[in-house]
Amino acid sequence: MAKLPRRKCAHKACRQWFHPVRDGQVVCSFECASAVGKEQTAKAREAAKQKEVQRQRTEEKAGRQRRAARRNDLKPIRHWVQMTQRAFNDWRRKMLLAAGYGCISCRTKNAFAWHAGHYRTTAAAPQLRFNPDNLWLQCSACNVYKSGNIEAYRAALVELIGEERVLALESNNETHRYTREELDGIRAKARADLRALKQREAA
Ligand SMILES: [Zn+2]
Ligand SMILES: [Zn+2]
Repeated sequence: MAKLPRRKCAHKACRQWFHPVRDGQVVCSFECASAVGKEQTAKAREAAKQKEVQRQRTEEKAGRQRRAARRNDLKPIRHWVQMTQRAFNDWRRKMLLAAGYGCISCRTKNAFAWHAGHYRTTAAAPQLRFNPDNLWLQCSACNVYKSGNIEAYRAALVELIGEERVLALESNNETHRYTREELDGIRAKARADLRALKQREAA
């Protein structure tokens, strides 16, 4: 048999040149073979341990998500309506401010705080709570202290969207039952639209 070319021992602590006596021999000696074997066993054991830790983490996370989903299922629809209204108002307020609108009732462009003010209140017309025609910017003075300043609101609304659409709002008496899925969809869209607005602003 032809003599095999010399090679470096695969044991990291050794790295000596040696002449292999058989094909596939990667270490110089029995000692190095045994050291490499031990290292590989330790490595395999460590990898198995890491895998187990990872599996446990994944399982715990899935458990947390299941419990959160159960808790969410127990929450009344009112909770989701409020969450969704907040997200929808945040988007609508930001959008109107970015477009240069001011208070729909008094037309100021300087406000201590900006509100998203419903033309027909959510109590009177819950079916219009997520209708953009029904939701405009208001300064805190008009929204909070002048209970909407509604006559001025109407006049400005007619200017903005036309009498026909205002009348459509005023004559809308549909009853609407919101479902979790519907609210989840409205909320997701409002959040995505708000994110897009902010990104455009930052760019
Ligand atoms: Zn060696
Ligand atoms: Zn105002």
